[in-house]
Amino acid sequence: MTSREDAAALDAADPLAPLRARFELDEGDRIYVDGNSLGRLPLTARERIAQLVDEWAERLVTAWPDWIEAPSRVGDLLAGACLGAPPGTVLVADSTTVNLYKLAAAALAARPARRVLVTDAGEFPTDRYVLQGLGDVRLLESDPVHGPDATDVVAACAPGDVALVCLSLVSYRSGALADAHAITRAAQDGGAFMLWDLSHAAGAVEVELEAVGAELAVGCTYKYLNGGPGAPAFLYVRRDLQDELRSPIQGWFGQRDQFAMGAGYEPEDGIARFGAGTPPMLGLAAVEAAVELVGEAGIARIRAKAAALTDLAVALGDERLAPLGFELGSPRKAVLRGAHVSFRHRDAWRICQALIARANVVPDFRGPDSIRFGLPPLYTRFVDVWDAVDRTATLVAAGEHHDFPAELARVT
Ligand SMILES: *Cc1c(COP(=O)(O)O)cnc(C)c1O
Repeated sequence: MTSREDAAALDAADPLAPLRARFELDEGDRIYVDGNSLGRLPLTARERIAQLVDEWAERLVTAWPDWIEAPSRVGDLLAGACLGAPPGTVLVADSTTVNLYKLAAAALAARPARRVLVTDAGEFPTDRYVLQGLGDVRLLESDPVHGPDATDVVAACAPGDVALVCLSLVSYRSGALADAHAITRAAQDGGAFMLWDLSHAAGAVEVELEAVGAELAVGCTYKYLNGGPGAPAFLYVRRDLQDELRSPIQGWFGQRDQFAMGAGYEPEDGIARFGAGTPPMLGLAAVEAAVELVGEAGIARIRAKAAALTDLAVALGDERLAPLGFELGSPRKAVLRGAHVSFRHRDAWRICQALIARANVVPDFRGPDSIRFGLPPLYTRFVDVWDAVDRTATLVAAGEHHDFPAELARVT
């Protein structure tokens, strides 16, 4: 059996442990294991937003010359800190959903003889919906625990009609980490563009966009990057394609000589052409501070701790949760996982409600039967993992979840 002292020993040896104090923490004994839905507030993000509010108050419109570079400046910061991408290839703008639309539409337009978009049947809903609105979607039926592999992609591209393959690098449900190199190669050999959704990967695992050679990527900044609720997302376009692809949103923030206010749209060179409208400066200020923290920690150390935290969760799940009817919904090998672990149980929704209401543990539920424990390495302790599993086992053994309704709520 793994004891709480074993977990405490791992914390004592953890090089990232001091970074926890750089976040706003809980007063009481709440255990927050939902940072994969909304990361904690970095203290520097709070300061940076306050500073920006002061600039707004004092400088008003005269501050725009200093603000206007923020989407590409923060994009470069993010590219270097954790995306393995060179400067000038990442822009922080809009939401993940909107960025996905922009890049998928641009890819389709660049392959006019092809109408098919490939994604996975288990892919995050907004990705499937956006693609459905753009063309004919072909769904992979991949393994629910391990996610899609290159063989699935080769088969889907075989008919020669695929313009784009769009997949998550880390699955939002199972936490499975896809083989970026093999899948990208399979899509490209099939004549398609590869678009990676990095929403659950950015800030959790090492992403090597340049080495992988993928054409396109998007992702959000409010999960493992801790940029805050509704923080602007990012998009990546491989440099050699930037002047060939065009955003379907012909906004003035993608226009050459924007303030010439010219008669017709002519896209700017480089990554800037994928901008649309006025950047959300308060959100960008928080993202910048949050990404600096990721850079300071180092993505290699973050990834190593994610592997160790999820290994502990898997081991404790075997010891304490499996006897209560839970089944691991994530890959067993750490190299095949991101930074969250899912456990499946037929009463998952009731258990999730009971954990929040009675045990002060905040995980989340993803239908039909998964409870996700998100373990962001910057602020999650090994004892938090131990306590979360311990409280879950105690609560379910006592049958407390039976006091909660089976009907789903508006937000889960
Ligand atoms: C969280 C997430 C999103 C979120 O999209 P928004 O536009 O920010 O709501 C999109 N795709 C994936 C895979 C996600 O995990």
